[in-house]
Amino acid sequence: MKRRLLGIYAKLHAAFGPRAWWPADTPEEVIFGAILTQNAAWSNVVQALQALKDAHLLSFRRIDAADQQELARLVRPARYFNQKARALKAFAGYFGSRYHYSLERMRRRDTLELRDELLGVYRIGPETADCILLYALGKPVFVVDAYTKRILSRHGILSMQHGYDDFQGLFMKHLPPDVAFYNDFHAQLVKLGNVYCSPKPRCEACPLRNLRGRLNV
Ligand code: SF4
Repeated sequence: MKRRLLGIYAKLHAAFGPRAWWPADTPEEVIFGAILTQNAAWSNVVQALQALKDAHLLSFRRIDAADQQELARLVRPARYFNQKARALKAFAGYFGSRYHYSLERMRRRDTLELRDELLGVYRIGPETADCILLYALGKPVFVVDAYTKRILSRHGILSMQHGYDDFQGLFMKHLPPDVAFYNDFHAQLVKLGNVYCSPKPRCEACPLRNLRGRLNV
């Protein structure tokens, strides 16, 4: 399995080059993006991030003091704006009371303990928690998303019936815990899902078209 996963990565990296993720100016902005991108297209998230930036609210210290309704108005482009405004407030409250708004303090925590803690914050599920751990804090955890599941299941590696932890475990069991590598591998899979492995796949032009294994499309 290790060779198979590395083979996928090699083909993607050769096709797309290094992805240099996550698209954000600061680690704190990564967390905003990770929360806002739930069930929303990234182009819409960018609009919400810009609105927060223009309002000088791209800081959890400021979010903690901000009015939730005003926040909902600003993040409206990212859909589910009331829930997302509440999620930003919830994270800000947790981040302030537990870590005094310091990502450095947060980074010092044991990874699994911190992950459990993050999963207890309103609207933070495994994918969001892992995005925060990997892309904002530089912790070696593999992020799984819908693209990852679709690509692996279409190639008969793991079926869609498996849960988040099974997909993540597959990568983390077989690949070294390397932050830069996990960062780029996830980003490559997102690119592949965006460009080729959509609900209607474009296998004939895809960098993985010659991958051995069963193709379930
Ligand atoms: S588009 Fe086709 S070849 Fe490419 S990853 Fe998806 S199923 Fe595989």
